[in-house]
Amino acid sequence: MKKILAAVVALIVITATFATTFAVALFDSPYIGNANTKKFHYASCRSVDEMNPDNQVPLYSVDEAQRKGYTPCKRCKP
Ligand SMILES: [Zn+2]
Repeated sequence: MKKILAAVVALIVITATFATTFAVALFDSPYIGNANTKKFHYASCRSVDEMNPDNQVPLYSVDEAQRKGYTPCKRCKP
């Protein structure tokens, strides 16, 4: 009986971990800044796909992006 309980608890923990990871990926930052060019984009912008992942900076608002010195991308106009 204890073994079953332990298995159920382990299953719940694993499911919760996966759900959290999925939620974080789904509700990721809406904007991505380029640390190299100092431009920021909608996360869906094609330029983000072309960007070196090392240069990608997550940004949560236009205000935050501008405060950090980023200018809006001319392609996606965030
Ligand atoms: Zn863009």
